[in-house]
Amino acid sequence: ELPPIEGDFYHLGHTLSPEQRELQLKVRAFMETEVKPIVNEYWLKAEFPFQIIPKLAELNICGLTYQGYGGGGQSFLMEGVLAMEMARVDTSISTFFGVQSGLAMGSIYLCGSEEQKQEWLPRMQQFKAIGAFGLTEPEVGSAAAGGLTTTAKRDGDTWILNGQKKWIGNATFADILVIWARDVDDNQVKGFLLRKDTPGFSVEKMHDKMALRIVQNGIITLKDCVIHETDRLQNANSFKDTAKVLQMTRAGVAWQAVGCARGAYESALDYTRKRKQFGKPIASFQLIQNHLVEMLSNLTAMQTLCFRLSQLQDEGKLNDEHASLAKVFCSLRTRDVVSKAREVMGGNGILLEYDVARFVADAEAIYSYEGTKEINSLIVGRAITGFSAFV
Ligand code: FAD
Repeated sequence: ELPPIEGDFYHLGHTLSPEQRELQLKVRAFMETEVKPIVNEYWLKAEFPFQIIPKLAELNICGLTYQGYGGGGQSFLMEGVLAMEMARVDTSISTFFGVQSGLAMGSIYLCGSEEQKQEWLPRMQQFKAIGAFGLTEPEVGSAAAGGLTTTAKRDGDTWILNGQKKWIGNATFADILVIWARDVDDNQVKGFLLRKDTPGFSVEKMHDKMALRIVQNGIITLKDCVIHETDRLQNANSFKDTAKVLQMTRAGVAWQAVGCARGAYESALDYTRKRKQFGKPIASFQLIQNHLVEMLSNLTAMQTLCFRLSQLQDEGKLNDEHASLAKVFCSLRTRDVVSKAREVMGGNGILLEYDVARFVADAEAIYSYEGTKEINSLIVGRAITGFSAFV
């Protein structure tokens, strides 16, 4: 009898309460039964499996940490564990969920007025309205803090928005898009709730991505879009407010990286126990075991770090550099784990049907989005040295 294939070597999942553990396993079961059987097909087609949304909504895990507005009032630790569970099967679905529950709902939860929260959050929590988060532009990625070229011009009770956004997840089918634009009068970044039927708004799907192919990223064009003042995020007054949203979601991305690594490790371990060469399972060879142990070491370090990260978040002590360090470490280590997983699977490691090829590709997107490794390193570097090295 072989031991179970379990990527939680230090039993961190068992430190959760029985109710939390039950929810973790419920989400795992959803991902295994509803997503895993179809995921490679949709990844290849670069299409989103909309049929899973009603069952995803039934799990009632969207906006898990929010107080009120349909949110669950649960811990960030629980939310992180669930992000890991989703990414363990597929990082695209986990990213779709992260954009909805974290970036889009989070912008409204952290920066919206009471009316805006009441109008959008309960519907979004149920996936009856889908959200997107538009910060990045074709010519402005890492330098978004000071460099946004999308403009907002106040005109009486309305604002006129012009510009382009690139890479915006869920944009092709979103009902409500949080758009970050520079106010031409005070030069500050402000957030706007753009409804999908706004005249002057158009979106084009990005094709031929080599990672997260299920996520529908779009290029948005805003041409004299008129947005009423009541649809401006009332508590977003500068990029510092945007950064609050990113701090919260970056912690979730670190957990996603753990999930991606865990999915690859568990697939690879399973494979090496079944695959025979020279008359023996390849898992019995010393060099293969060495690879597996290196993968597990990285995975265990990442999980332990993320557990503490979420505890800090739950204690209200999380700051930008905590979230950035976790994002840097986990996205870097995940690249290493998925590449070793591919290696121990030989040629089959590059076949989609064995799953690990998808994890390898998707790890590249995790590495770059929500702040690249360099940008997150600079955030930590600034905090520990006192010197900003951004420009
Ligand atoms: P650039 O900023 O052009 O950077 C290129 C390279 O230069 C990187 O290695 C970077 O680290 C490095 N670099 C830049 N400045 C410095 C510096 N000062 N010092 C050292 N190195 C530096 N954005 C959204 O707004 N909404 C979304 O939903 C969204 N979803 C995404 C989904 C995917 C799959 C991807 C890939 C991206 C998504 N993004 C989204 C955009 C993402 O946040 C950006 O790709 C990211 O911020 C990096 O910007 P960039 O790609 O323009 O790279």
